[in-house]
Amino acid sequence: MLVIKNIQDWLQAHASRESNSTLGFVPTMGALHKGHLSLVDRSHRENDTTIVSIFVNPTQFNDPKDLNGYPQTLEADLSSLENAGVDVVLLPDYNQVYPDDYRYKIIESEFSQKLCGASRPGHFDGVLTIVMKLLNIVQATHAYFGEKDYQQYVLIKEMAEAFFLRTRIVSCPTIREDDGLACSSRNARLKSEERALAPQFYKTLTQKLSMAARKSQLESLGFKVDYLEEFKNRRFGAVYLGKVRLIDNVAI
Ligand code: AMP
Repeated sequence: MLVIKNIQDWLQAHASRESNSTLGFVPTMGALHKGHLSLVDRSHRENDTTIVSIFVNPTQFNDPKDLNGYPQTLEADLSSLENAGVDVVLLPDYNQVYPDDYRYKIIESEFSQKLCGASRPGHFDGVLTIVMKLLNIVQATHAYFGEKDYQQYVLIKEMAEAFFLRTRIVSCPTIREDDGLACSSRNARLKSEERALAPQFYKTLTQKLSMAARKSQLESLGFKVDYLEEFKNRRFGAVYLGKVRLIDNVAI
């Protein structure tokens, strides 16, 4: 497995690639779990070569405490990517990906303002900007995104269409723990009693209830509800358990 920190090194390696081979790309912020590895698996099945990036993107964190507390497990991540047979890991730093210091941004003005965008101002500007940069650097045939972050997936897919990007954007199903909780890097920050309660979030999202009853059920269980909304044939939710924010969505 090739670990590349310097973008120029990647561009050089990429230039010598055979022109008709396929390249799959999985962008991540690290603290990898089986949700990320399912994207890697899909990329393996559909491409000759797979590249994974690990970059905790500061511009998508509207809350500095959230950024500082974001789990970082680089050694373990590299060994699970090696075991998964990944060909290349890209580990750029802020100065490399933001030579402009974030003066240039990708801004979407409608869907990015709803759901997570309503409570996290600027979040999707940061997400779309870093994904645009990474897609341009990597120049993959396919890039893989999880339905766990469904709003993010839709915005990235539509951005790729809007800007005629050459990479095909592929969505992958949400991977869950046995108790139904969607795998997330943030789950590691739940206290044990919060972790025990967390699966009730997904359960409540899937139950046949009015939206008002769903909200009060979650609140009486001890969740703080950020939003619960139905949109484009999906039910979306974001809740807090203590300081940890969890998101999930289901098809309806
Ligand atoms: P992150 O490291 O949280 O930025 O996530 C990197 C990619 O993994 C994104 O495309 C996420 O949607 C995807 N992902 C995260 N959790 C899951 C999950 N439980 N199932 C499927 N994909 C996921």
